[in-house]
Amino acid sequence: MIKVVDLGKTYINGSLGVEALKGVTLHVEQGQFVAVMGPSGSGKSTFMNLLGLLDRATCGAYQLAGQEVSTLDDNQLAIVRNLRIGFVFQTFNLLPRLSALKNVELPMLYAGIKPSERRQRAAKALERVGLGNRLEHRPNELSGGQNQRVAIARALVNKPAVLLADEPTGALDTRSGEEIMAIFQELHREGATIVLVTHEPDIARHAERQIFFRDGQLVRDEATVNPIDARDILNSLTEGRVTHE
Ligand code: ADP
Ligand code: MG
Repeated sequence: MIKVVDLGKTYINGSLGVEALKGVTLHVEQGQFVAVMGPSGSGKSTFMNLLGLLDRATCGAYQLAGQEVSTLDDNQLAIVRNLRIGFVFQTFNLLPRLSALKNVELPMLYAGIKPSERRQRAAKALERVGLGNRLEHRPNELSGGQNQRVAIARALVNKPAVLLADEPTGALDTRSGEEIMAIFQELHREGATIVLVTHEPDIARHAERQIFFRDGQLVRDEATVNPIDARDILNSLTEGRVTHE
C-alpha cells in the first residue's frame, strides 16, 4: 500500500539546511497497523507529512496504492491527498465555526459529492465513532476526545487507502486516548491500513509493527514488543544523542 525508497527531506531556513530525514525506505502492506516511534526531533512528523502529501520530499520515491506520487504536480497531489489519504493530527485541526457534521462533510465537498449524499455519509461516519448524537455540535462544545473522533470521521469519510495519524492521543488524557486507540484497533480489524506516530509505548502496543526513528533515519523495524521493552528501546535511542532542545 505504501512503498517509500530512500526518502529524504532537507528544510532550508535562510542559508541553513536541516537534514530532517535521511534516506528512509519502508514498505507497508495493505491492512497493516504500524506505530512510528522515536525521540523528539527524530523526523517522525517530517516523515508523516511526506506520507500524507502535506509536504514534498527532497529526494526519493513514493508509491501509494501502486501510484507513483513523487512526480505529481501540486493539483494532482491535492486530489490524491483528498481522495486517498486520511490524516489525523494531534491538535484535531477542525474548523471552529462548523458543526461536527459540516467538518466531516468537507473532504466530500472537495471531492464534488452532492449535498444529500454528503450529509448522509458524514452522519454515518460520526455514528461510527460514537457521535451520532453530536452532529450539530461545534468543536468548542465537544471534549478533546470527541473532537478527535470527529477528526477521525473526517479522515475516513472518503474511504482513504491509508489512515495516517501524528500523535493523535498526544493532547488527550489517558482514558480518552484509550478510547481513540479502541477506534483505531476496530478500523484495523476491519482492514484499514494505519500508520500512527506516538512516543507512548502504551499507545504503540495497539499496533502490530513498530518502527523507530533516530536522527532522521529509520533504525529499527519489528513486530510489536511489550511497552516495557519499547520504552527501553526509546531510551537507548535517546542516550548519547546530541539535542538542541
Ligand atoms: P519529530 O516529529 O520526531 O519530533 P520533526 O519531524 O518534527 O521530528 O523534526 C525533525 C527535525 O526537523 C528537527 O530537527 C526539527 O527541528 C526539524 N524541522 C521540522 N520542521 C521544520 C521546518 N518546517 N523547518 C525547519 N526545520 C524543521
Ligand atoms: Mg512530531
